Amino acid sequence: MVPGARLIVLGKQGSGKGTQCTRLSHRYVVPHISTGDMLRVEVKSRTPLGLQARRYLDAGDLIPDEIVLAMVAARLDRDDTRTRGFVLDGFPRTVAQADGFDELLKPAVIDLVLNLVIPTEMVLARLVSRRVCEDCGAIYSTSVPPKLNWTCDVCGGEVVQREDDTEEAIKNRLDLYETQTAPLVARYAALDKLVDVSGVGTPDEVNLRLTSVIDAYQHGGGFFPPVPPEERP
Ligand code: AMP
Repeated sequence: MVPGARLIVLGKQGSGKGTQCTRLSHRYVVPHISTGDMLRVEVKSRTPLGLQARRYLDAGDLIPDEIVLAMVAARLDRDDTRTRGFVLDGFPRTVAQADGFDELLKPAVIDLVLNLVIPTEMVLARLVSRRVCEDCGAIYSTSVPPKLNWTCDVCGGEVVQREDDTEEAIKNRLDLYETQTAPLVARYAALDKLVDVSGVGTPDEVNLRLTSVIDAYQHGGGFFPPVPPEERP
């Protein structure tokens, strides 16, 4: 059986986090938890949370920590995360969220934090050409569109440009990344959890770098659930 994992992927908007987290979730058979996708579903379904969240999303502002933490706490309570773990995409985004998350997770701990490193000029170009499926969140671009007429290859949903992929909202999101999220790099490095991985290259190249790091960690026996000694090769 593939062992589970508790992974966080950090990286600026447009660093390829979403694409890579989807792939990691398939490879390690863990749920892909994207707080951005969860919030977009709430907005689309016009739930009370969605109605509250909409103005933050449109402006590229961060949703208040306590709201995001409550949403993640509910998701962590489900069986799949308890038994398999997770790959977290877009969370935590502030030091307060990281602290709150550590509390939620106790007595378990995170296995690895993978930091996708990429120059800002490159993410700007990616964000402007990014297109996403409105229904399942699958990611495309103007240079790699879905096969048929902007209809999602995965679920048949409509593939569109995200409303917060406008120049103004992108700038705000990147500024917030520097001030609010970048300090998490030092936080997880101090805990000896962080690995920097270059996000430059094709999705396959970046994926190979990530899985090499995770596999090396796994073979060192650092993963949850630990493989019992009698089942080790
Ligand atoms: P993303 O898809 O991760 O780029 O997230 C899209 C938007 O959802 C962000 O610009 C925020 O408005 C909101 N959001 C997603 N995750 C978080 C989070 N962990 N904390 C606060 N706001 C978030």
